[in-house]
Amino acid sequence: MMKNNNYKIKGCLLLFTLFSFMAVASNQVKGVRVWPSPDNTRVVFDMAAAPEHISFSLDNPDRLVIDLNNTTGSSSLPPLSGESALIKSIRSSGDANKMRIVLDLTKATKANVFALPPTPPYGHRLVVDLPDDQPVRNLPPPSIRAARDIVVAIDAGHGGEDPGSIGPSGFYEKNITLPIAKQLAQLIDRQPGMKAMMVRTNDYYLHVNKRTEIARGQQADLLVSIHADAFTSPQPRGASVWVLSLRRATTEVGRMLEQTERHSELLGGVAEIIKDSANERYLAQTVLDLSMNHSMVTAYQAANEVLQELDKIAYLHKREPQAASLGVLKAPDIPSILVEVGFISNPKEEALLKSGSHQSKLATSLFTALKRHFEKAPPADSLFAMQRAKEHRVSAGESLSLLAQRYNVSVDELRNVNQLTSDSIRIGQTLRIP
Ligand SMILES: [Zn+2]
Repeated sequence: MMKNNNYKIKGCLLLFTLFSFMAVASNQVKGVRVWPSPDNTRVVFDMAAAPEHISFSLDNPDRLVIDLNNTTGSSSLPPLSGESALIKSIRSSGDANKMRIVLDLTKATKANVFALPPTPPYGHRLVVDLPDDQPVRNLPPPSIRAARDIVVAIDAGHGGEDPGSIGPSGFYEKNITLPIAKQLAQLIDRQPGMKAMMVRTNDYYLHVNKRTEIARGQQADLLVSIHADAFTSPQPRGASVWVLSLRRATTEVGRMLEQTERHSELLGGVAEIIKDSANERYLAQTVLDLSMNHSMVTAYQAANEVLQELDKIAYLHKREPQAASLGVLKAPDIPSILVEVGFISNPKEEALLKSGSHQSKLATSLFTALKRHFEKAPPADSLFAMQRAKEHRVSAGESLSLLAQRYNVSVDELRNVNQLTSDSIRIGQTLRIP
């Protein structure tokens, strides 16, 4: 886990005195990047070596001060890339041995400052996370209406500081996943009865847990995470679709049941009737198991539809949905699929995945598959379910009065709209429902 170093000024002065005996600074700030997201701004300082840092906040005006020991502070900071409404300016001062960086803020925020070890394409970094108390994302969760929209949460893999996999030509996975996600969202939003919800709206980093949290907050019917695959050799290619593995799901349910405060969140309204005593825990487990089974069946069916569509426009790496515990496939309560649109590590596929026309094809395929999935299995209170109910194919054991009851119409209405002269109906007959 990441470590937060927030010392009092006194301690910092003491350390300064100690470090001032050291002769030549070995560290240096090589770059500064600002990644704003709706509820957090991340500032990343690229360092020549692992940073020795101390930070503290000051108010009137609100500032965050970071002291970097053993760091050349006599030259100015490299030019910033990116900007955030939270940050007025970033300035520096110092001498050959230490650097002081001051972030002038537009409001007070509880900064989290930590170092990150090198991961391609980046080297040593000092990261400053500035949470935004009044996040832009304050959309109310969709209310339950008579015929609601089906909510699809679309998660563009990686982002910001996390480039994902990197192709042989240097292209980042995060720059493939976002345009596909955006196009998919557009297609979904154009479809009456469906609504898209972008988990990440731009180029910033979101923790995996945060991604499922956002989807859960929007009561998503399905979470679709978009990624590109990579391997150590250039040969593997093709798309694959992943669903949550049963083994992992069972572990996750167990873990979540341990965290009693999370029950209400996971169980929705059911939590109100389940008191969390040890005796009743088995009941909570059963309810979660039921929703988990539903999630997994839904995800598996959706995954199959996606594979069927992708097969028309892309090579498939695996023809069956794969079960795993990667990325967002951790929430047992939200049906989730993870689509690997191809191998970025394969030079030919990297070129394909970079192309706008192929990205559009992928987005269209995903949309067609998801629409078909929800047409086949619409959530009961959705517009899709209502529309589907306008026609009914009679199956064994059904009578006119039973159907009238089910669709909440009168037998007379059913008779009239279908121009029936008697009440007898046959199996396979299609009836119109008024
Ligand atoms: Zn990925």
